[in-house]
Amino acid sequence: MALYAELHRHLGGSVVPRILWRYFQRQNTDLAQRFTEYSEFEKFYTRSRNTLDEYLELHTLVESVQTAQTLPYFIYRLIRGAYIFENLAYLELRYTPYLRTSEHLSQSERIEQMAQIVEIVGQASRVKDYPIVTSQILCMHSRLPYEVNKAIVDLAALAKGYVCGVDVAGGDAHYAERLDEFVGLYEYARSLGLNTTGHLYETPQGCYPELLPYLMRIGHGIHIPLKYPELLKEVAQRQQCLEVCPTTYLKTGTLEDIRQLKVVFDRCFEAGVDIAICTDNAGLHNVRLPFEYENLLTQDVIDFKQLQACQDAAFRHAFAWPHGQRPASLLTGLLQNEAIDRELVVRSP
Ligand SMILES: [Zn+2]
Repeated sequence: MALYAELHRHLGGSVVPRILWRYFQRQNTDLAQRFTEYSEFEKFYTRSRNTLDEYLELHTLVESVQTAQTLPYFIYRLIRGAYIFENLAYLELRYTPYLRTSEHLSQSERIEQMAQIVEIVGQASRVKDYPIVTSQILCMHSRLPYEVNKAIVDLAALAKGYVCGVDVAGGDAHYAERLDEFVGLYEYARSLGLNTTGHLYETPQGCYPELLPYLMRIGHGIHIPLKYPELLKEVAQRQQCLEVCPTTYLKTGTLEDIRQLKVVFDRCFEAGVDIAICTDNAGLHNVRLPFEYENLLTQDVIDFKQLQACQDAAFRHAFAWPHGQRPASLLTGLLQNEAIDRELVVRSP
């Protein structure tokens, strides 16, 4: 049995449709009445959208039900599925903590509540029966005000026992008007010793070279090899890893065919840029990590040797994997379900 590392998965998009549907049925929500049959709900929830913005709208559906009270319910099922069906040894889970706080509170009260959310997610992710090493990436958001995003960075630095890095999400086309602000926030994050990734170069509208130097990994980044291959040399020099999430580009209308990714992989391999293959939203897509691998292989985007290189890269670029690589002894321990030291060792940038 192989064990994998997953570096890019959103808490909001990680709930598989059947778990979400059952939850709605149990709570007897409006959605339960709208979708009395599971198959209708699955179709609605997993269908492709025309744009990234339209696709991101779906996240709000899940965010609204992932509250302080319900998070343990969803996370337990997520960890169980990741261990049993996906063979994950390591998982970085990302989300915007502010969007899990109580909506009726004031902004400053919500900021205060974020620490509690991080604690709940951290505790719920440590499931004795499914010993995956987990850590959190806190996402700043393009639609949240500066004060909230800065508080997210501050919290990431304070909660290093649970948090291994920061990200920016919310649709990469929306950073343009506040680019200086996000550059400043990343500079600040690096000054606090935080690991950084960011959703960037995902769509043709989201390409900002100004942000690149501050990132240790690039969330998606596929339009670097597709449209700006001249940047690959510096990406390789900075040892930045691309987090490529194949199914996403089809669900958001960014690409029409998964085979368009062949250029992405070929150019990155040639330039010495690492790629970690990730799911982004394994639940929302209903495509788990082993199937992302399999799809790339069967569509001749990569071969088995390249797959192995990407799987190894995922461990190497993990922000909180205990040894920064793929230690055989630790994997054996996981296989035998031994008690392992799950104190996070967050890598220094
Ligand atoms: Zn993402």
